[in-house]
Amino acid sequence: MDKKTFVTLEQLQEITKEYPTPFHLYDERGIRENAARLKEAFSWNKGFKEYFAVKATPNPFILNILKDCGCGTDCSSATELMLSDACGFKGHDIMFSSNDTPLEEFALANDLGAIINLDDITHIQCLEDTVGKIPETICCRYNPGGVFKISNNIMDNPGDSKYGMTTDQIFEAFRILKEKGAKHFGIHAFLVSNTVTNEYYPMLAKILFELAVKLREETGADIRFINLSGGIGVPYRPDQEPNDIMVIGEGVRKVYQEVLVPAGMGDVALFTELGRFMLAPYGCLVTKAIHEKHTYKEYIGVDACAANLMRPAVYGAYHHITVAGKENRPKDHKYDVVGSLCENCDKFAVDRELPEIEKGDLLVIHDTGAHGFSMGYNYNGKLRSAELLLKEDGSVELIRRAETARDYFATFDFCDTMGKYR
Ligand SMILES: *Cc1c(COP(=O)(O)O)cnc(C)c1O
Repeated sequence: MDKKTFVTLEQLQEITKEYPTPFHLYDERGIRENAARLKEAFSWNKGFKEYFAVKATPNPFILNILKDCGCGTDCSSATELMLSDACGFKGHDIMFSSNDTPLEEFALANDLGAIINLDDITHIQCLEDTVGKIPETICCRYNPGGVFKISNNIMDNPGDSKYGMTTDQIFEAFRILKEKGAKHFGIHAFLVSNTVTNEYYPMLAKILFELAVKLREETGADIRFINLSGGIGVPYRPDQEPNDIMVIGEGVRKVYQEVLVPAGMGDVALFTELGRFMLAPYGCLVTKAIHEKHTYKEYIGVDACAANLMRPAVYGAYHHITVAGKENRPKDHKYDVVGSLCENCDKFAVDRELPEIEKGDLLVIHDTGAHGFSMGYNYNGKLRSAELLLKEDGSVELIRRAETARDYFATFDFCDTMGKYR
């Protein structure tokens, strides 16, 4: 089965009359339906809340849709906190899960009343010194070390990751925090990114639930929530089986019943901080074929580049491509689909089998709704694209204009003398 786009050639032809390519386009209906499924999957947990990882798609229109769906935000920087504040997320609707945290960001998070998730035991002192006290509600990030396996597959290597506290440290941190006046506690861990398996969350939940029981036994801490963080992935490739969020929710419920309920902790709230799962499939990068080149390989040059979507260039990540209107044509050509950066890694696809592409064709690059636009950059002086929202009624709204040269030059002091380029 080929992956389907959420937008047709006819719609794209309409949209491109008003908004030139390239642009990122988001699907409001898909976002809302998916958020509702997540809520449903965890509806058995009274305090369940998804804190959307703002870094995935830091756009206020997207944040407002998610807010409307009952989500909070997960922030890791000052500007993400500001964005959340500006969108009306208040107090404990904001989670501040940062690392290597600048002190002024602790101060801002504290001013907003956000839940602060401490990445390291030394941050207890930093926080206290910065804001004058330890907040009543506090969270600690856990790193169990070692390797994380599902069946016999090594999924990732937490022991090599910079995040979180060791087992000894989190026990010590809870004791210190309690002494310093913390009343309500949370624990958090993020061990593997982009998992396309229904087993990750239940396995992570088991680790965290067992830790929570021990932490309460040994420190007497009142544990109010457990944050399973991000990491539920999406099938970027057409042959991957998507996660079933209902199965994941049920898997976590079983572990909750086995571990937390018998320990008298059946009122602990579960939080998630999903980014990719919430948005990736509901965004695409629309770009136009502007050149074809026949040398040692066949190239299609498009008007987007890695500055608009860096995952293929940086991680060699696969993003599916549909040539709009040619969905049913045979894929009898093999192309490298490339952008214009002076970097040979600027390829959206390598040796990809696609229908014949002609100049002017619109290409839809799938699954760019998370960690897409937001990872963009200005290398080669490339400007960031617009972001558009395909609304539920079929209309399209510009939710971020494209950058102009003036934006690019804005941080030079001589901006005002740039004359005709202003
Ligand atoms: C990036 C991040 C997330 C979101 O991760 P996804 O893979 O997009 O789900 C959640 N929590 C923290 C702390 C993160 O750094």
